[in-house]
Amino acid sequence: MTRSDEIGSNPTPRTSRLAFALPDISDAEIDAVVKVLRSGWLTTGHVTKEFEAAFARKLAVDHAVAVNSGTAALHLALDAIGIGQADEVIVPSYTFAATAEVVRYFGAKPVLVDVKADDLTIDVQAIEAAVTERTRAVIGVDIGGWPCDWPMLRSVALRYGLKLIDDAAHALPSSLCGRAVGTWADLTAFSFYATKTLTTGEGGMLVTYDSSWADRARMMSLHGISNDAWRRYSAGGSWYYEIIAPGFKYNMTDVAAALGLAQLQRLDEMTARRVRIAGLYAELLQDVDEVELPKAPLNGTTSWHLYPLRLNLEELQCDRAAFIEQLAARSIATSVHFIPLHLHPYYRSLYGYKPMDFPVSYREYLRLVSLPIYSRMSDRDVLDVAQAIRQTIDRCRASSLSRS
Ligand SMILES: *Cc1c(COP(=O)(O)O)cnc(C)c1O
Repeated sequence: MTRSDEIGSNPTPRTSRLAFALPDISDAEIDAVVKVLRSGWLTTGHVTKEFEAAFARKLAVDHAVAVNSGTAALHLALDAIGIGQADEVIVPSYTFAATAEVVRYFGAKPVLVDVKADDLTIDVQAIEAAVTERTRAVIGVDIGGWPCDWPMLRSVALRYGLKLIDDAAHALPSSLCGRAVGTWADLTAFSFYATKTLTTGEGGMLVTYDSSWADRARMMSLHGISNDAWRRYSAGGSWYYEIIAPGFKYNMTDVAAALGLAQLQRLDEMTARRVRIAGLYAELLQDVDEVELPKAPLNGTTSWHLYPLRLNLEELQCDRAAFIEQLAARSIATSVHFIPLHLHPYYRSLYGYKPMDFPVSYREYLRLVSLPIYSRMSDRDVLDVAQAIRQTIDRCRASSLSRS
């Protein structure tokens, strides 16, 4: 019996709602956290150092700075390269709030550009059209886990003298041309938010090859207190420290780092499960004309943080909202990633953007639905999603027939 037969012959409806995302926490994580809780040292300490070292080894990067969110990592990246109020930073419109808000933290201007229709990553030609003499950096977003065209981004950055920052919140682990995401940009920010591929509850990591940027980020993550003063005097139990700059409070706790370390040890296993789920979706849905499935990257790998399904709205005869509602009625939770930044009131009113200023972002947004994909999903869960999609499509067809 093939899987598709199984779908046709197994109409038992789900009794429980399938969550859109769930963290994958095993006893190893729980034990590691409990150990820290019993240790008497809760905040940044040797477990955080261990997590940073293990993370850097895993990605083959020189420096890793653990912080309390992916947004903090992005903020520190822009601080490290010295972004100021008069600067412009190019950002794709198709992303989450954090990517552009960190530019606004400096009073600088996020200059939005469109993305490519195939993988929804930043359009390099659009970057070239948006560069001005104020442009200092580009933030590429490896959306859903699909790596940006980093070789092309690097050549554009070189040509115009721009710094490259990678918002890799979705891309652990992803790779391009055999090299991990984390090694392509000048600075790369990862997120360990609860729904991400590795979680510390809340958390993030900034990685870079440059020791002075790493030192600056570390210092700014803890009140701008000099690392040197800290190192020189803390071992001897001294009370002395020096404030070098007005920093932030972005340090990661050892409680979170213990969770991160245990998750990191399970990352390959969790990723393999996501790859398997993506393969199952492809097998179960490839003959459905009403939907377009995501394709794995040509020269690399995706973490499969998201499973972005695109609806062929004309064939479907339902709109996206109805599709989502129908799936929810069949106990399947979905989401939409993302509402492009230029559609949001803040950016619209500040810069006067209109929906069709970024036609790819806008059009693709209207037909995207993210399906559940996470390592705790069973094969049966995936079959249920596929079955609910087929039933929803039949329902759309029937209701449009009854209208005509
Ligand atoms: C989750 C996310 C972030 C920020 O992560 P936090 O850890 O929640 O601060 C940044 N960019 C993108 C694209 C994200 O999805």
